[in-house]
Amino acid sequence: MFRKISADYIYPVSTTKIEKGVVVVDNNGKVLEIGQRNQYNASELEIFEGVIVPGMVNTHCHLELSHMKGKIPTGTGLLTFIGNVVKERNADESWIQHCIEEADQYMLDSGIVAVGDISNKSDTFLTKENSKIRYYTFIENFDFMQEGRTHSDFEMYKKVYDLLQESAHLKKSMVPHASYSVSKELFALINGLNQNPNLTISIHNQETPPENELFISGEGQFNDFYERFNLSLNNFKPTGKSAIHYVLENLSPHHKTLFVHNTLTTREDIEAAHNELQQVYWATCPNANLYIENRLPDYRAFIDKDAKMTIGTDSLTSNWQLSILEEMKTILKYQSYIDFEQVLKWATLNGAEALGWDSEIGSIEVNKTPGIVLIENVGTDKTLLPNSTSRRIA
Ligand SMILES: [Zn+2]
Repeated sequence: MFRKISADYIYPVSTTKIEKGVVVVDNNGKVLEIGQRNQYNASELEIFEGVIVPGMVNTHCHLELSHMKGKIPTGTGLLTFIGNVVKERNADESWIQHCIEEADQYMLDSGIVAVGDISNKSDTFLTKENSKIRYYTFIENFDFMQEGRTHSDFEMYKKVYDLLQESAHLKKSMVPHASYSVSKELFALINGLNQNPNLTISIHNQETPPENELFISGEGQFNDFYERFNLSLNNFKPTGKSAIHYVLENLSPHHKTLFVHNTLTTREDIEAAHNELQQVYWATCPNANLYIENRLPDYRAFIDKDAKMTIGTDSLTSNWQLSILEEMKTILKYQSYIDFEQVLKWATLNGAEALGWDSEIGSIEVNKTPGIVLIENVGTDKTLLPNSTSRRIA
């Protein structure tokens, strides 16, 4: 049986929107045909109010932290936030599993079809194996620049990496956590393991002002942060340049690179990354940025530089929900010069490309199985409203 699904508008993303469009899918959700209502008998159509978009891609999540929803105060800045996460992370094993499964189901129901997910542990692997969502798991490494810890830390994360079995819906890579937490030696070990050129490497980037300060002058709040955890910065030498330059000097340039957050990233930083790396994607997590630091990236700079933007939710430690629709609403609310179709592309096709699944998902095209998502309660001009909702219908 085929389903012939129609709504006020269909946004295929790869082509322009279709008024009163129809998308024909088979039992597995594979797109067979795209047309308009006047080509079909009205009786064979399922007609919805609202707009139809392809399944959404969440390029930055920490599913394993789902049990910490509502536990961490907002507005503290990144360094206090990290300290709180470390303190609150432990919980009952069955409660952790329950929250992971619930978060996976929530993402599926709200129309997310693929996730780029950070893992420090293997807690999420069973849920991912059984999920209808595609997961790109980024096994995250850090040694906090401590000499003598690098190899044992790497071996610990390598064990987690080895536990995840890849399949058509599950991919993995070893990734560095952030500029300020990964030594040159650890970057080299990570690069050594990521031999496959088709991999995507994700890294947290320029999320808080002290990060650039540390690299430029060696001063600032990171010194207190390291001290609080009894860590020494003796092995660290400031570079005199913003934090992203340290990453560009140490990360293999041959993979797709996914920079996450980028709230302090400048036009010069974007240019440097575009010059040094082969394929660069920039994940924005606006609700997490508002939760932790109460600031947003300079989106205009990214648009002016033709940067490939994607969208992430970050984790339930720093967000009220794992919804790409809510992230889109926030971007549109604060940045009126960005329109729905532009931000929809960030949320779908760009994310699919960043994770290497764009031949199967990311746009409504014949032979893709993108997931068909209905957005309801849209404005008369088909824009998002505060009470717009999204759900998977095929
Ligand atoms: Zn994160």
